[in-house]
Amino acid sequence: MAKYPEDLERWREASRIAARARVLGLRLTVPGARRRDVADAIEESIRASGAEPAFPANLSRNDEAAHYTPSPDDPMTFEVGDLVKVDVGAHLDGAISDTADTVEVGGGHRHENLIRAAREGLRAGIAEVRPGVRVDTVSAAIARAIRARGLKPMENLTGHSIERYLLHAGKSIPNVPGMSEATLEEGEIIAIEPFATNGVGMIENGAFGNIQRFRSDPGPKDPALAHLFARFRTLPFTLRWVATEEERAALARARRSLQTYPVFVERGRGLVAQAEHTVLVGPNGADVLSAGP
Ligand code: MN
Ligand code: MN
Repeated sequence: MAKYPEDLERWREASRIAARARVLGLRLTVPGARRRDVADAIEESIRASGAEPAFPANLSRNDEAAHYTPSPDDPMTFEVGDLVKVDVGAHLDGAISDTADTVEVGGGHRHENLIRAAREGLRAGIAEVRPGVRVDTVSAAIARAIRARGLKPMENLTGHSIERYLLHAGKSIPNVPGMSEATLEEGEIIAIEPFATNGVGMIENGAFGNIQRFRSDPGPKDPALAHLFARFRTLPFTLRWVATEEERAALARARRSLQTYPVFVERGRGLVAQAEHTVLVGPNGADVLSAGP
């Protein structure tokens, strides 16, 4: 039984918006640019297109693999040679797209091998997508492409199935074989996201990356909190989006109903590149929704 979402056109449109935001983010990530300004510009472009960010723009740098978004007063500016993952999400009424690519700041070619490995891993994984294929076949193709460049796939970061308002639904798409018994089904939407590193190929938890989400509905007791939940539901958000002192204070009081995300840092402090697309499992193979402009 094919399981296409009934509002597939909405998923396509969210993906076009996310792809444009990804391209914008890559272009703005230049020497001297403030990380916070780039994140704001990505998210503004998503809102200007009539969608909402599905999560805060992730601008993880060098050995940060994922889950860093700038804080409201983030002082960091990009420097020549930084390796920056631009990972963006957009949603239209819960139809989510999740896509990423990596840029070397200043346009040098020091990290070309890492960037190409992640992109080739993504391409190789996508090439295996079709109904009934084992997820393990996709994972093996990703790992093989990255290892062919003498690099390591990140073993404990995975792609994932996506469902309405659920960025990480039930199914994982590992970047190495031997971890999944699942198969892909026609009509399913998945994010494939290889990470390539010159480190050890594992992440560990770092400091708070300024991303959090509600675990569940906090209820009506605290009006400021109820207002925030109505806005973000259970999708990830960040303090840059919370303008008033009243709301920030409510969040500080409600720590127990919030999940906070640490930055994922490469365990050997290796550099990390990532490439990601949101893909529909079509009747004859992958339909890459976030391929973009
Ligand atoms: Mn992503
Ligand atoms: Mn993802």
